[in-house]
Amino acid sequence: MGDAASQVFPAHGSGIGIGLIAGTVLAEQVAGFADPGGEAATWSYQAAFQRGFGGTLAAFDVMRRFNSAIGTDGVRELFRSGMFTPTVARDGLEQRWSVPPAAEALTSLRRMAAAPRRGAPMAAALARAAAVRSLYRRHPAGPDEAALGRWSAATARLFGPAVTRASSSSTPSRPARGPVP
Ligand SMILES: Cc1cc2nc3c(=O)[nH]c(=O)nc-3n(C[C@H](O)[C@H](O)[C@H](O)COP(=O)(O)OP(=O)(O)OC[C@H]3O[C@@H](n4cnc5c(N)ncnc54)[C@H](O)[C@@H]3O)c2cc1C
Repeated sequence: MGDAASQVFPAHGSGIGIGLIAGTVLAEQVAGFADPGGEAATWSYQAAFQRGFGGTLAAFDVMRRFNSAIGTDGVRELFRSGMFTPTVARDGLEQRWSVPPAAEALTSLRRMAAAPRRGAPMAAALARAAAVRSLYRRHPAGPDEAALGRWSAATARLFGPAVTRASSSSTPSRPARGPVP
């Protein structure tokens, strides 16, 4: 759990809140089991956490990879152009997946279409993030190694290639992690 389980908010490395949430989910999920450390109990925790919260961490990790790839200058450009909106920035700080108001989303989409060099990869990253979130809600519910293998493979495909360097910034990016376990 916590840092050891990559339960860290990818956009800014905060791990206290999500670690406390994970602890709460664990306590709730194992409470009814005769063996709280057994496979059924720990699987129940894993499924509840990933379905409820893992998708948000994973989606933000997709966006973190995108931001790392375009670098500081690219992110600045996204804010200047209006593709990144104030709602997206605020919700990122508050560690929740953003659904901007319709007018703001429409403006952002128009800006992406008007500047496809930045807009197209951003739209692709947002689509990938949405798909990852949806996939996490389908984490296998109970002990099933084969289903977990298929789910993990699908998740890894959606995360796409690892990012090791920022392409347009002097600020070095952090090495990419694997999918949030
Ligand atoms: C400089 C800095 C600033 C941060 N600021 C923020 C912030 O503002 N907000 C935020 O949300 N997060 C912040 N974080 C991240 C946050 O501190 C971590 O995500 C969080 O503390 C992780 O909690 P944890 O319990 O998983 O791990 P830890 O807090 O690292 O706890 C693990 C504990 O296990 C102990 N341990 C390790 N190995 C063993 C062993 N073999 N036997 C026994 N004990 C062992 C360690 O000594 C440690 O006490 C910051 C991190 C850093 C480094």
